[in-house]
Amino acid sequence: MQDPPSGSDLVITSVLGDIDPESLGPTDCHDHLFIRGGHAVALEPGYLLDDVSAAVAEAETVLAAGGAALVDCMPLGVGRDADGLVEVASRTGLTLLGASGFHRDAFYPDDHWVRRSDTDTLAAIIVSEHLRGMGRDGVAPPDDDRSSARPGVIKVATSGETPTELERRLLVAVGLAAAETGLPVITHTETVAGARVQLAALADRGVPADRVVLSHMDRHADAAELAEICRTGATVCLDWLGRTDRRPDEVIVRLAASLVEAGLGDRVVLGQDLARRAYWRSYGGGPGLAHLFATVLPLMTRMGFDRKELDTILVATPRRVFDRR
Ligand SMILES: [Zn+2]
Repeated sequence: MQDPPSGSDLVITSVLGDIDPESLGPTDCHDHLFIRGGHAVALEPGYLLDDVSAAVAEAETVLAAGGAALVDCMPLGVGRDADGLVEVASRTGLTLLGASGFHRDAFYPDDHWVRRSDTDTLAAIIVSEHLRGMGRDGVAPPDDDRSSARPGVIKVATSGETPTELERRLLVAVGLAAAETGLPVITHTETVAGARVQLAALADRGVPADRVVLSHMDRHADAAELAEICRTGATVCLDWLGRTDRRPDEVIVRLAASLVEAGLGDRVVLGQDLARRAYWRSYGGGPGLAHLFATVLPLMTRMGFDRKELDTILVATPRRVFDRR
């Protein structure tokens, strides 16, 4: 395994190693290539994404459609597959960023190790993944057998308006680890109030808003609320694209357009969160992971985005928010 980098040179950590941020291309900033067991799958079998060949096939469609990178947002203890990400990145050339950190309370059953660990221990586990590699087992705590992949982001999540007691501890642990490692934080939000709690808790631990990407904000925030959140310095990820069973892509593109019009076009990134077999073409469903690049980008052009605005959202802002400082 490579040594962790030293000095202050900015890098983005992909699962195949550190890269120059300037080499990061168009990025799907919130998606899922593997969910290999864990409590989420126990609750909802449709979440199971366990086939490397299927992931390779989807990754190839992303590249063919003009995508270059994808952030896999499965964190510790919920079915992450670090070695699977390494294999897909190696076989396809798609740049993949993996996640350390934690998911929402409901994805950790009562007897899960995350619930039994204190905040300092949880923070130390994240830091150890940055230094030594991600744990191989997607559900158990990381042991000495590590993947060659190191995390590129730290995930954290809150449920509803007010975090649970566990989620409050996980926020502290992630804040401590992000401040120590310089890794960016990507969050799961369910409400605007919850997003504000996340930003405040992370800031308390020395993680400023401009190091935080708030996922799912298109599910619960209107244009005015999004602009207000972006003015804190945080970046919002609009990632219900492709989930046209929930909401048409046009509605989400209009939210992005409202941020560009407000002068906040450098505070928004896009993702898909296609974390179900039914959303993958290689499992016989759709729209498939290429949707963002094959369908949404042409739609954005038709809806008035120019090349520079698209480049900011797809390339320049991911380079800025996913570097390590
Ligand atoms: Zn997700």
